[in-house]
Amino acid sequence: MTKPVCYSTKAFATSSATSPLAAATIERRVPTATDVQIQILCCGVCHSDLHYARNEWHFTEYPAVPGHEIVGRVTSVGGGVKKFKVGDTVGVGCLVDSCRTCASCRTGLEQYCDNGMVMTYGSTDKYLSKPTLGGYSQSIVVTEDFVLRMPANLNLAASAPLLCAGITTYSPLRHWKVGPGQRVGIVGLGGLGHMGVKFAKAFGAEVVLFTTSPSKIEDGKRLGAHEVVVSRDEKQMAAQAGRLDFILDAVSAEHDLNAYLNLLKRDGQMVLVGAPEKPLPVSAFPLLMRRRSLSGSLIGGLPETQEMLDFCGKHNITSDVEMIRMDQINTAYERMLKSDVKYRFVIDMASLA
Ligand code: NAP
Ligand code: ZN
Ligand code: ZN
Repeated sequence: MTKPVCYSTKAFATSSATSPLAAATIERRVPTATDVQIQILCCGVCHSDLHYARNEWHFTEYPAVPGHEIVGRVTSVGGGVKKFKVGDTVGVGCLVDSCRTCASCRTGLEQYCDNGMVMTYGSTDKYLSKPTLGGYSQSIVVTEDFVLRMPANLNLAASAPLLCAGITTYSPLRHWKVGPGQRVGIVGLGGLGHMGVKFAKAFGAEVVLFTTSPSKIEDGKRLGAHEVVVSRDEKQMAAQAGRLDFILDAVSAEHDLNAYLNLLKRDGQMVLVGAPEKPLPVSAFPLLMRRRSLSGSLIGGLPETQEMLDFCGKHNITSDVEMIRMDQINTAYERMLKSDVKYRFVIDMASLA
């Protein structure tokens, strides 16, 4: 493949696991026939951005540009683009491409592509043969099949986190058919967790929030939890033993999974969406007793992400966000590490001008 023509755009990048993010100039391809060029207006800050920037998952290539909760406006389209036109309000999540031919891709589960999905950052860019660079930048070029339509009635900044935190919690709750008559636990009230609470409630379940932060009890209830358990309080944990049908674990750091497995009923299901750096030990007994299961779930495919966005438009669901300037990102990361986010930072990309 001949190297496509590129243009420069401003971004925030990091050059090593220990460097702060700082202003940089990066290259994007000029849109090909099937590409959409997007002016990024806002980008959410996911804990995965921090894991990746600091090489906690051990595959980061530098310079790295995180960011996969992208919303913006279409500024140009290739000649073959059918679904979008200049001026449309669109979103891009964690995926920018996949093989499109394997069994997973053909069923709209591009995140499980057998031949390797192309992530918005941290994958190999098929066109430039370099690592893909994410949304902490002024513009991005994405093939139209991986661009999403944003609901017109929702606040755009508050809907940016739907592109990762939203779909990552919506997808497992849908897959395991969470609904009325079920008691559902959500672990960790961060970016993912607060969306998990909102969706589980919207699907009709009775929601129990587990938090390490007593200061989040009132917010947990306001966001939709019927009950809030402070997970460091052994008595409160013991009172939940064997009482939950389903648990969604959205914790970013080391914690004891066994304590949560013991809260499941017979045949209960616990699903990990959090991706801590270090392995989490699992004892056999909490699984053997009552035939419980432990699974994981990764973001969501393109059709389900659009379904989730449309659901949010219909039910008026957005994230609770705190807007920041691009140059506040390093402080935002430190606050995220202290569980001090209410409940998602979103970067106003105009601040990068
Ligand atoms: P976040 O906003 O930082 O929230 C994480 C929450 O976990 C915190 O707010 C805190 O909630 C809890 N927590 C933090 N440290 C803890 C500890 N030591 N013990 C127990 N609880 C702790 O992060 P996020 O953006 O929601 O992401 C959460 C995790 O999901 C990250 O690992 C991220 O990489 C991963 N992720 C996975 C996918 C996927 O596809 N599976 C997609 C996106 C993100 P409380 O204060 O309520 O305890
Ligand atoms: Zn994410
Ligand atoms: Zn595939």
